[in-house]
Parts: sequence; structure tokens; C-alpha cells
Amino acid sequence: MQVGVLAVQGAFLEHRIMLETLGISNVEVRLPKQLEDLDGLIIPGGESTTIGKLCVDYNLLEPLRAFGRKKAVWGTCAGAIFLSKQAHRDQPLLGLMDTEIDRNAFGRQVDSFEVDLLVDDLENQDQPFRAVFIRAPLISSTGSTVRTLARIDPYQNRPGGIVAARQDKLLATVFHPELTNDTRFHQYFIRMIEETNL
Ligand code: GLN
Repeated sequence: MQVGVLAVQGAFLEHRIMLETLGISNVEVRLPKQLEDLDGLIIPGGESTTIGKLCVDYNLLEPLRAFGRKKAVWGTCAGAIFLSKQAHRDQPLLGLMDTEIDRNAFGRQVDSFEVDLLVDDLENQDQPFRAVFIRAPLISSTGSTVRTLARIDPYQNRPGGIVAARQDKLLATVFHPELTNDTRFHQYFIRMIEETNL
């Protein structure tokens, strides 16, 4: 299995380290032809407008859309925004996932936080996943083919909502599993890739 990590901007290295830990062969993707022969792709966190614009400049937009119609793709944070069909801003989106996104839903960088989440489908799902939110968005609405995997409860001034969702072979998390030592989300994505390859 070969997993690509989109490496135009953002936290791609941390995903690669996580994949290395799991013994999964992985490569950085910056050119359309690097998508060939991949079994799955991770789009990292960072700044979604920048990622989108760079993908336009690198002629990656259509190749990424074509890839995501056939293969497993996981977007974390800015990656989840880029996967969505609506972010209510003027920015290039892949539009692969039937999700609407509320960018910077929790406020500014200083309003970043961590929280213990219960996530459907993860191994040992009764054990919370420590989720790191960095200027994160919320998934404000989902289409009928999208399944919610995790929600966050409102807390003081902080809004609640959907923070992890899956639509067939597409996965979106608005937090950063690659910044923890918990490999369960990466393992989950690997299982998604295996299912897609069956
Ligand atoms: N705030 C960023 C955006 O809207 C996402 C932040 C992140 O990826 N950690 O694109």
C-alpha cells in the first residue's frame, strides 16, 4: 500500500511520521503525476485558502477531484475544508464531500484547545480520542450520504457541532490526529483504503 500526503502547505510531515510509525509506505504529493499508483491520500491541516490556491497553481484541482472519486481521501482541518462543497468564502474547494463548513468556528488561533472525544468506528471506541483543535472549523451541515463520526458539545462560549464525518471513502476531521501519539485515526483510514481496494 502506498499513501500520499498532499504537501503543498501545512502539517504534512506529521502525517508522514504517523504513517511511518504504522509501517505504511508514503510519499509527498505536489504534482498531478504523483497521484498515480497511490491507494489513498491525506490532505493535511494548514491554511485552506493557501492550499486551494497552490493546488490551482500546480494544476492539481481536477486530478485531485478525479482521485477522490475513486480512492480514499482524508482531510484534516484545512484538508476537511478543502474536501467540502461549501465553505462560504471565495476559495478553491474540491467539492468532493457533501459537507458545509464554518471556518474558524471557534475563533482565533488563541482559542485553540484540546478535548477528549468519543468517536464512532474507532478501535476501542469507548476510549476517548484526544483531539487537538487549532483554529478549527466545524462541519455545519451534511448531506444524506454523510455519516457523523464525532461531535463536540458546546462548552461555555464554545459552539458545538460535527467534528468528524465520513462519506463512503472520504473522511473529514476538523482536528489534528497527527499531532497526538494515538494512531487510531490513521489505522482507521488505512482500513478505509483496504476496503476501497477490495
Ligand atoms: N483556520 C484554517 C483554515 O480555515 C484551518 C486551520 C488548520 O488546518 N489547523 O483554513
